[in-house]
Amino acid sequence: MKLPYAEPFRIKMVEEIYPSTREQRETWLKNAHYNLFNLKSSQVFIDLLTDSGTGAMSDKQWAEIMTGDESYAGSRSFDQLQKRVEQITGFQHLLPTHQGRAAENVLFSALVKEGDVVPGNSHFDTTKGHIEFRKAHAVDCTIDEAFDIENLHPFKGNIDLHKLESVYLSHSKENIPFCLITITCNTSGGQPVSLENIKAVKKLSDQYGIPVIFDSARFAENAYFIKTREKGQSERSIKEICKEMFSYGMGMTMSSKKDGLVNIGGFIALNNEEVFKKAANFTIIYEGFITYGGMAGRDMAALAQGLDEATEFDYLHSRISQVELLGNQLIELGVPVQKPIGGHAVFVDALKFLPNVKREEFPAQTLAIELYKEAGIRGVEIGTILADRDPETRENRYPKLELLRLAIPRRTYTDNHIHYIATALKNVFDRRDEITKGYHITWESEILRHFTVQLEKA
Ligand SMILES: *Cc1c(COP(=O)(O)O)cnc(C)c1O
Repeated sequence: MKLPYAEPFRIKMVEEIYPSTREQRETWLKNAHYNLFNLKSSQVFIDLLTDSGTGAMSDKQWAEIMTGDESYAGSRSFDQLQKRVEQITGFQHLLPTHQGRAAENVLFSALVKEGDVVPGNSHFDTTKGHIEFRKAHAVDCTIDEAFDIENLHPFKGNIDLHKLESVYLSHSKENIPFCLITITCNTSGGQPVSLENIKAVKKLSDQYGIPVIFDSARFAENAYFIKTREKGQSERSIKEICKEMFSYGMGMTMSSKKDGLVNIGGFIALNNEEVFKKAANFTIIYEGFITYGGMAGRDMAALAQGLDEATEFDYLHSRISQVELLGNQLIELGVPVQKPIGGHAVFVDALKFLPNVKREEFPAQTLAIELYKEAGIRGVEIGTILADRDPETRENRYPKLELLRLAIPRRTYTDNHIHYIATALKNVFDRRDEITKGYHITWESEILRHFTVQLEKA
């Protein structure tokens, strides 16, 4: 018999989590204005809000925490991180930042100006926020297959080269600072980009003199999919694949809270000294001196170790297999989910799940609330609330998909938790016909409203 996957680690420390009653959860929800970001963690039993900064560090990472160097300038921990980033990505120039969006803020301050367009594959929300905040536009060039959740295309994060070229043809080079490839593509469902597509985007962009930048939060998971799905890649190591992916870019922004296997941190890495020098000024203004950029020395040291662990096949295999386990259980139970299952999360199709809830009443948010009520599980809406209003017309933007994301923290929950989650969602599915009303917004912020929005029952 073929052996099943098993985690290449065992548990050395545990953290208590708290079940609650349905009554308690109803009260907490009301007090939270039906925004799950407003719940206290003690009110959540299984937290699938995000895989960002919520994973478990290894004993080796904790050892690095003890020996980190807290020098303001030129710390040993910075050197460790710089060497590791160069080893994995090939980029020599490193600017640490306190998290991924800070890396965007610093790099975009150097590169993006009013009126620019930034083509890419479904930009992440903070990325889009940082582009639009500068009165520039993010243009989504993701392949159409990404928006058909039944389509089994193995690389649904890919960029459509025709869409990309039409952006290159309709704007002057001066107004396209770079093409942004997000690996894996979070917004379209944790879907990977193939090496072939990255290469083709690089070739096309070269023809128009446009550099390529990677938004690389889940680059190691992307490399795992390349190894396991792309022709001719199965014999290569994850680290070899990562090195090749990044060789097609001028640089990267990183949220270390994902594939860095740490709880906080980010960085920019570049192979272009001029851009590095320009961005370094903004690091000093916004983040801190260039050898720490808002990070403690110990956190940089733990990140250096985390990047090594995250780019090992056995770890990635157990990680992605656990996410698949949840996806496959839901598929067996008849729950509509996005296929193929993404790298870090399972995405439930709320439009199919709750056909009786109107788009204006936020079906994915409604489903997130129902799942929390059912079992104390916190997921997150990836739908109309997240999509924000159009910055010019101020109308709601209705994305093609309305999804409930169940993000799986790294090395954190057991497969028993996975069974629990699948059963809870099945219970909601069984009573889906009774769910006919959603929610209305009572208060929202101008930009990135989903973090702080307040809602009431429709
Ligand atoms: C998380 C994330 C970011 C932002 O990073 P933070 O560390 O949350 O600030 C940017 N892009 C992608 C693709 C992400 O997943």
